[in-house]
Amino acid sequence: MRRKLVVANWKMHGSRSRNRQLLDAIKPALQSFDDRVDIAVCPAHLHLSEVISELAGSNIRPGAQNLFGLAEGAMTGEISASMLMDCGAEFVIVGHSERRGKLGEADVQVAEKFAAASESGLTPILCVGETGEERDAGKTEAVVSRQLDAVTNRVGINPMRGAVIAYEPVWAIGSGTPATPAQAQAMHAMLRGRLARRDGEIADAVRILYGGSMNAANAAELFAQPDIDGGLVGGASLKAEEFITICAIASS
Ligand code: PEP
Repeated sequence: MRRKLVVANWKMHGSRSRNRQLLDAIKPALQSFDDRVDIAVCPAHLHLSEVISELAGSNIRPGAQNLFGLAEGAMTGEISASMLMDCGAEFVIVGHSERRGKLGEADVQVAEKFAAASESGLTPILCVGETGEERDAGKTEAVVSRQLDAVTNRVGINPMRGAVIAYEPVWAIGSGTPATPAQAQAMHAMLRGRLARRDGEIADAVRILYGGSMNAANAAELFAQPDIDGGLVGGASLKAEEFITICAIASS
């Protein structure tokens, strides 16, 4: 039985005081779900240390939104896995579609990031997902498989054991229109099946989150799907009541 995981992706939002307000609002409410669901928040890098201090004693775990795929070096402005570990991060999002699509991150870079994260002990949250054009052209499965294979070909299957995958159709992110539960379930099952070809036990254990316009109104039917193990939540994670409700549904 896979325990559900709900991850807040705050993206490039927040300020020190807004983060504090949001955490003050969600921490007490989420505490009561402690033994039934895993919860993480991913603030901007700049805010990570302070958010980690504020999370002390809570059941919310800290994550980052990105990292660089090298251990250290002359890479102005970048942040390594060991830096994230050193400041107390546990998760890191890898290959978010906003980085792939708007910042030109290629599969090979995503695979390097995944490798750096998992080698250092962080839990990578690997995002995969097709654009609307790719779906319309019937390429959904090919695109998502390519994105997954780029990582498993680089690191092998074993590092997937502790990792998380997030299926995030690009057309659903921030659009207000999520994938239907059936569309999401089909892709989650496809991803699990693809992992199972290499290792059935790992495929059974890996958590596959859905992301893309998840909110308090649609989370229940998405979480009811057998291969949906939680959510990666953008916009709705910035609203305390929405996020608390999503976590409550995941815990029930
Ligand atoms: C995301 O960007 O990871 C995401 C799921 O965003 P939203 O929930 O706002 O669609």
